[in-house]
Amino acid sequence: MIQRDAHTISLWQDHAGGYNTINKADRGKTYDVIIAGGGITGITTAFLLQNAGRNCLVVEAANLGYGATGGTTAHLNTLLDVPYDTIQRNFGKEGARQIREATAEAIQLIKHHIDRFDIRCGFEYADAYMFAQTEREAAALKDIAEATLMAGADVSGVDKVPLPLGAKKAIKVTGQAKFSPLPYVQRLATAFEHIGGTILQQSRVTAVQDKETILVITTQGPFHCRQFVYATHIPPGVNLLHLRCVPYRSYVVAATLADNNYPEDLSYDMQQPFHYYRTQMVEGQRYLIVGGEDHQTGHQENTENCFRKLEAHVRELFNVEDIRYRWSAQYYEPADGIPYIGRLPGQTGEIYVATGFSGNGMVYGTVSALLLKRLLLGLHSDYIKLFDPSRIKPVAGFNTFVPHNADVVKQLASRLFPAEKLEQLAGLAPGEGKLVNYEGSKVALYKDEQGGLHAVDPVCTHLGCEVHWNQAEKSWDCPCHGARYSVDGQVLNAPAGKGLDPHDIK
Ligand SMILES: Cc1cc2nc3c(=O)[nH]c(=O)nc-3n(C[C@H](O)[C@H](O)[C@H](O)COP(=O)(O)OP(=O)(O)OC[C@H]3O[C@@H](n4cnc5c(N)ncnc54)[C@H](O)[C@@H]3O)c2cc1C
Repeated sequence: MIQRDAHTISLWQDHAGGYNTINKADRGKTYDVIIAGGGITGITTAFLLQNAGRNCLVVEAANLGYGATGGTTAHLNTLLDVPYDTIQRNFGKEGARQIREATAEAIQLIKHHIDRFDIRCGFEYADAYMFAQTEREAAALKDIAEATLMAGADVSGVDKVPLPLGAKKAIKVTGQAKFSPLPYVQRLATAFEHIGGTILQQSRVTAVQDKETILVITTQGPFHCRQFVYATHIPPGVNLLHLRCVPYRSYVVAATLADNNYPEDLSYDMQQPFHYYRTQMVEGQRYLIVGGEDHQTGHQENTENCFRKLEAHVRELFNVEDIRYRWSAQYYEPADGIPYIGRLPGQTGEIYVATGFSGNGMVYGTVSALLLKRLLLGLHSDYIKLFDPSRIKPVAGFNTFVPHNADVVKQLASRLFPAEKLEQLAGLAPGEGKLVNYEGSKVALYKDEQGGLHAVDPVCTHLGCEVHWNQAEKSWDCPCHGARYSVDGQVLNAPAGKGLDPHDIK
């Protein structure tokens, strides 16, 4: 099993062995490109650039698949979370057409890699169904269907969906697919190394300085390159993109069914938040995979309840034999509905980024790789302007938020806290965490299963918001930009580059 940025265990991570690198990183040489992040975006970008003759190094803070790629549900779809009528409103008919075309190309590229490297990852083409259960949803689905058709997809109205429920209105879109993400990413990583690429795991990029060459400081020392890519899902540090991307958590269960009646294809309801359904065969066992209960990171106190609600929903619809896996992971919702891929705003040098994928980062991560390859090679692409991270699209309804807690939380560094008093204040059960007030200051306190207390400063090191406890993942999550920390304050998710300050407990 590989590690993930979470306490819960995903179906994919449980079935993946650790990735053993082949080539050694060389500090003495100047790489053409260094890519931070070993998820689908980083590995695909690295492979395409290496294949085009560039000498690339991937620097991964933990292990391949540690981020959302290890916690995804791996629908490969052009029928996206942000519907085409919204994309059309924000980017016009041509923009919507380009998005459909780019995502379809991404699915083709994934299939091409699977065929070329004989990747056993259970890839299958599928149809996607979206269905309405109320009159209001039916009216919205009509608009979505029209815009999806106009964007170039093969859309048809259908009477039935492949789920045991009735629908007022439903559409089917062909040309979608599904797979297991980690065998794909790991095998593509091997192919990348076979053609001369290098991967450095357990090494976090802590700073990038644009000098004569680009100096990349990592926890395993400095490296040099000419071009640099942040494929870290969200870039670390402080950037305009943190105000344009909202972090969300989504919950997933993988169940076995007593009646073997597994739904084929991909299905999406239109509830708020919506549910997404599919089946995947993994090592001879079929799993029904259902996701949903999404909420803004740090905005839901009882994250266990999200799993309970999702499980209840699955048990109501299906004849569940066993819930084998339940996990949650994070994604980033872009302000205007489509990702930010290109030059990192505010930088003069050749520093690039790919972020804001919503729940479609398998395809958008691959779209990013295709576009970044052209950008870094200095080639033209029709998509450069569309995905430009510096674009300004003020769209109605997007609730930007800025850190608002910084001034109310005092710095607590180097204070000594009496354990007895802290415990009384918190009244914690083993396995629980809580923000407690101690003499006018706040402490993020966790009690482990053995009764040991872990206290850290609750001020997020990114922009100073106050972190919230996530019971299901046993992590401290920042509601502002989605940085996440372990109970001892170590960084689990960017954009934070530095952990929470630990506090000594007497
Ligand atoms: C529950 C859920 C379900 C989803 N389902 C789907 C789906 O069905 N279909 C779909 O297309 N998309 C889906 N998505 C979205 C998709 O999983 C993600 O968008 C995608 O995995 C992002 O890939 P990535 O490579 O960009 O980022 P990640 O997979 O998060 O990889 C980023 C990597 O960067 C590393 N890193 C971070 N900071 C640093 C640093 N400073 N230095 C070095 N390395 C660093 C991390 O350790 C991590 O391994 C889902 C998302 C969630 C949360």
